[in-house]
Amino acid sequence: MVKRFEMSKKAASLFVSGETLDDAFRAAREANGLGIVATIDRLGESVENAELARKSTDMYIQVLERIAETGVDGNVSVKPTQLGLAIDYNLCLQNLERIVQKAAKLSNFVRMDMEDSPYTQKTLDMFKTLRKKYSNVGIVLQALLYRTEKDVEEIIENGHGVRICKGAYTESKEIAFPKKSQVDQNFVHLLEMLLSEKARNNGVYVGIATHDHRIIDWAKEFTKNNGVGKDEFEFQMLFGIRKDLQEELVKEGYRMRAYIPFGTQWYPYYMRRLAERPGNLLFFARTFLGE
Ligand SMILES: Cc1cc2nc3c(=O)[nH]c(=O)nc-3n(C[C@H](O)[C@H](O)[C@H](O)COP(=O)(O)OP(=O)(O)OC[C@H]3O[C@@H](n4cnc5c(N)ncnc54)[C@H](O)[C@@H]3O)c2cc1C
Repeated sequence: MVKRFEMSKKAASLFVSGETLDDAFRAAREANGLGIVATIDRLGESVENAELARKSTDMYIQVLERIAETGVDGNVSVKPTQLGLAIDYNLCLQNLERIVQKAAKLSNFVRMDMEDSPYTQKTLDMFKTLRKKYSNVGIVLQALLYRTEKDVEEIIENGHGVRICKGAYTESKEIAFPKKSQVDQNFVHLLEMLLSEKARNNGVYVGIATHDHRIIDWAKEFTKNNGVGKDEFEFQMLFGIRKDLQEELVKEGYRMRAYIPFGTQWYPYYMRRLAERPGNLLFFARTFLGE
């Protein structure tokens, strides 16, 4: 049992920068050295009580202070259930506001990650509430949900910043596209909307969060053909995944941001990465155990 846990921990280290703040900053500095900006995520979700939610909030404040002290080029990504959304909406909103306020003071930015569908509307509600007071907060939308097209329309109307991703959680076919090909198609459709002239004129800045080279190639072609500047959007990828492609995009002059998770609560994050690509187990075996 202990051996299995140790093996999983080692495998997770392919996707997680480490357990401590120092590990995250080491990875962020390394990324910066390659021309890649960072977004730092403290692992942990669905905290069970207000005290733990407060501790997560304090930790994010610390991350923001450290970014300011060290001059690392990066912001933070926060999961609302880590700040208490599963316990109480207002508790989460207060915690999030503390982080956004601190980030505003330090001229930094907070990205609200999007979790599974029970939290979609609440997360968007919190975002809209905070966005009325602060401009340094952004949201994530998931291409797998049917509702996202409407949410994108609203984002465009309001000229807000958004990260668009496929979506990492399993959702029912009542609310989400059941086939991967449909999700991919919708991703491109939503990108077309978010990169449109109207969206850009309204101030939308999109983070294209995918490792899917077909979508990345499409985005490169679309932006080139439609006069979208390389500074009007960015690509985003997860720590440890397609590092080759991350560096290639930087060399081609695109903006690239790496999502850098750290902390002891790595298990759910690691399991989502495995679910996306079971071949990662093989990758792990090759990396650590030899062929
Ligand atoms: C910066 C960033 C932030 C994200 N934030 C959120 C969020 O807030 N909410 C949310 O629900 N989801 C989030 N995600 C996860 C996202 O929704 C997908 O689950 C994940 O990115 C995998 O999908 P893909 O777009 O890379 O495409 P896929 O079709 O899954 O993969 C395309 C290719 O990318 C590579 N690849 C993909 N995943 C892996 C992996 N785990 N290991 C190794 N190679 C892989 C493979 O080469 C694969 O063929 C985020 C992703 C990124 C990159």
